[in-house]
Amino acid sequence: MSNIDVLKTRNQDFAVGFAQSDLAPLPRLGMIIVACIDARVDPTTVFGLELGDAVIMRNNGGRITSAIIDEITALSLLVGRVTSQDAPVFHIMLMQHTKCGAQQFAVPEFQAHIKERTGIDVSASGITDQESDLMVDIARLRDAPNLHGGLTVSAMLYDIETGQVREIAPTQSLAELRSNTGDV
Ligand SMILES: [Zn+2]
Repeated sequence: MSNIDVLKTRNQDFAVGFAQSDLAPLPRLGMIIVACIDARVDPTTVFGLELGDAVIMRNNGGRITSAIIDEITALSLLVGRVTSQDAPVFHIMLMQHTKCGAQQFAVPEFQAHIKERTGIDVSASGITDQESDLMVDIARLRDAPNLHGGLTVSAMLYDIETGQVREIAPTQSLAELRSNTGDV
């Protein structure tokens, strides 16, 4: 049995008696979780999420990049259009993890190698120290002019050896962060 066949079989099991056809399109927990694509750190499993609970955005390192900011901006506008709300509000939970492969993207020679071969700039994705990188990512959200001040953000660090998350930054709104000049 191929790995694809394994997934097909699991889906057949999943769909038996499926009773979630009427889920609301907006996430039940009002949450966007930004996490690394590492297969060991799937937020659905880590936080015991169910279908419809949360929007999950994943990239190398779980970093706030311009692409992630654009996605959140577009999603906010989309939700605003569908719900006729001027300021759709989400909580953005950032989750980085220990022993992240994206630490390689912080190595200057590797950054230069990728840039030279592909033109891709991975400098915003590099992990050097998760706690400080999470604070950098909060600042990137704070400084993104298209993101509404009503959005809130918090940050967690997931330990792949214990399965536990530790809060690095408590919930604050982007408006609060913007009013506290420069100490994030
Ligand atoms: Zn990672």
